[in-house]
Amino acid sequence: MAEAKANLKQAEKHSAYESFLARLNEAADMTSLDQRFRDILSVPERVVTVNLPVKLDDGTTRVFEGYRVVHSSVMGPAKGGIRYAPFVDLDEVKALAGWMTLKCALVGLPYGGAKGGITLNPKIRSVDELERITRAYTRALKDVFGEDSDIPAPDMGTSQREMAWIFHEYSRIYGYTPGVVTGKPLHLGGSKGRIPATGWGVMRNTMMALAEMKMDPHNTTCAVQGFGNVGSWAAKLLQDEGLKIIAISDHTGGYHRQEGIDVREAVKYTKKNGSLEGFSGGKRISNGELLALDVDVLVPAAIENVITESNAEFLQARIIVEGANGPISANADSILDEKGILIIPDILANSGGVIVSYFEWVQNRRGHYYSEEEIQAKTAPILSDAFHRVWNTHVEYKCSMRIAAYIEAIQRLATGIDLEGNF
Ligand code: NAD
Repeated sequence: MAEAKANLKQAEKHSAYESFLARLNEAADMTSLDQRFRDILSVPERVVTVNLPVKLDDGTTRVFEGYRVVHSSVMGPAKGGIRYAPFVDLDEVKALAGWMTLKCALVGLPYGGAKGGITLNPKIRSVDELERITRAYTRALKDVFGEDSDIPAPDMGTSQREMAWIFHEYSRIYGYTPGVVTGKPLHLGGSKGRIPATGWGVMRNTMMALAEMKMDPHNTTCAVQGFGNVGSWAAKLLQDEGLKIIAISDHTGGYHRQEGIDVREAVKYTKKNGSLEGFSGGKRISNGELLALDVDVLVPAAIENVITESNAEFLQARIIVEGANGPISANADSILDEKGILIIPDILANSGGVIVSYFEWVQNRRGHYYSEEEIQAKTAPILSDAFHRVWNTHVEYKCSMRIAAYIEAIQRLATGIDLEGNF
């Protein structure tokens, strides 16, 4: 079967949820967190599995498995993307939902965390099939989604197009509700600046890390793994800031040019050809080779668990900025820490997307829309405040930036749970 999960996952199979729990427990130990907060944060509030019978273009019917996990709604309506990939499973969706809870708490958004996914390969499905699958998924989750309960957004394999279908299908049932989903097209209530938002946040976090490390951006090399929404925008914006992007990659492989890749050309190439396959702007390398390049900054912006205990010792970067969610497994953290590599963790590094999604939701509910400059002006101080709080906690607790980010997030969540009282 084309979408069989097991043999299509290109990264090593580690439990992403175990990685989430390992870090949660480490941060909880450091802060002597009360057991009841650990118990609450260690399990998702709600786990829904749906089976969606959908007619394919050839007239046959296929049942697609989908998930929605609400990890927490303590701080507000749950928020989190929807992923379409052949390897999506419940463990991964649970981990991604947990990270959303921590991310929203860390940057101070009035949201909890959720995530969804459907196990399918979007590259082999027609647009009509994808529309039918997305509408079936929305109908199946109509009582979970809601602008005050659970608000989806794009993630890997989904984009504005799928968000428009979700908005439309949900609004057919409940009436016009643009705030039920973010990452919509501009014409349907989307926000200016949402498409580049995550890559923009990765760029801002990288610049703040370089400043702390007293490194000159014009004398800094960078490799980016994954060339979708997050990776391509991060690469382009980092190049604009003066960094030399010496390697890029996607699921078809990597490209290396020591003098610097022309990122704009690569973006044009992928728009035309659908992937980097055949790109002539650099020497062909593997994704594994890209990760081990001698670079100052490495941005993994593809999938989880690409850096594990089996390859961590070969990494040479000085700074890793996690554009993707969970690209480093928990047991690789200590190897990288021992090597003195500074890691800007996912829940901080890629938070730009959910911050602008929050502003999209605010705009939908007020019916008043901001310019791209206003969006950036509102987002930048949130990113900066979060980065510096995490930096200070990392100094105070003498721990990694990742554990510092978890400490910041769980302290806010514990306060929220405590103030809610007994239930
Ligand atoms: P996308 O679908 O736009 O792009 C994914 C990219 O990764 C593609 O270039 C794909 O070819 C590549 N890829 C897939 N498997 C790979 C592999 N094994 N090796 C190398 N490259 C591979 O997805 P995206 O929205 O850019 O998301 C990427 C990551 O960023 C995910 O972890 C996602 O959860 C995270 N993220 C996305 C957003 C967002 O706003 N889109 C926000 C926060 C975090």
